[in-house]
Formats: sequence, structure tokens, C-alpha cells
Amino acid sequence: MDQCIFCKIIRKELPSKLIFESERLVVFPDINPSADIHILIVPKEHIGGIGDVTKEQGSLLAEVYQVANQLVIENHLENSSYRVVVNGGKAQHIPHLHFHLLGGQLKKMV
Ligand code: AMP
Ligand code: ZN
Repeated sequence: MDQCIFCKIIRKELPSKLIFESERLVVFPDINPSADIHILIVPKEHIGGIGDVTKEQGSLLAEVYQVANQLVIENHLENSSYRVVVNGGKAQHIPHLHFHLLGGQLKKMV
């Protein structure tokens, strides 16, 4: 995990504008936004992708969606449009599980 970009952000070896941090998650804006609002929700634990999620991580996933909903409220997206997206396979460019919160006008595919 030494060279993983998101692990480096989590260890604060790379800069990011942290929006939120808990014991198990970090949240920061996507560097190359695909929508008006594009925020990444990233578990601190290095989980490669959805194929690496175990039952023991159920409460971690619940926290991800609770934080996503909090961000929806803070960004006034409840009555607008938003998506929570996880890419996999060739659509996933950073092999550290992360959730894209996309809000407002979509500019391109994530
Ligand atoms: P994915 O293709 O699902 O793996 O998404 C990776 C996302 O990470 C892309 O939307 C990138 O724009 C974003 N990204 C890459 N490097 C950084 C970074 N240093 N800080 C914030 N977002 C990043
Ligand atoms: Zn990582």
C-alpha cells in the first residue's frame, strides 16, 4: 500500500482538502470533477475494490452511506439529483475502494 495514492492522502503524505475525517473514513473533493459536486468517500483501510469487501465491513459500508447522506444534505442535493458510484474493473483507476458522490449537472462519466 506504500505507493497507493489514496493511502498516501490518508497518511497525509499527499495534500488534499479534507472535508471530513472519522476513525474509518476520509472525504475530499475529486481532483478532476465529473459533476458540479464531486466528492470522494474513502475508507482508511486499504480495500482494493468491491470484490475485496467482507461481511465484517458491513458497518463500514453503513457509515459510508450515512456520510454520503450527510454530504447530500450539506450540499442541498436532496431535491436536486445525485448519485453514489463505485467503479470496478477497467472503469476503476485507483485500486483502493472509494465512493464517488456526484451532484448537480453531470459533465462526464466518472
Ligand atoms: P476511479 O476511476 O473510480 O478509480 O476514480 C478515481 C478518481 O480519483 C478519479 O475521479 C480521479 O479524478 C480522482 N483522483 C485521482 N487522484 C486524486 C487526488 N490526488 N485527489 C483527489 N482525487 C483524485
Ligand atoms: Zn490504498
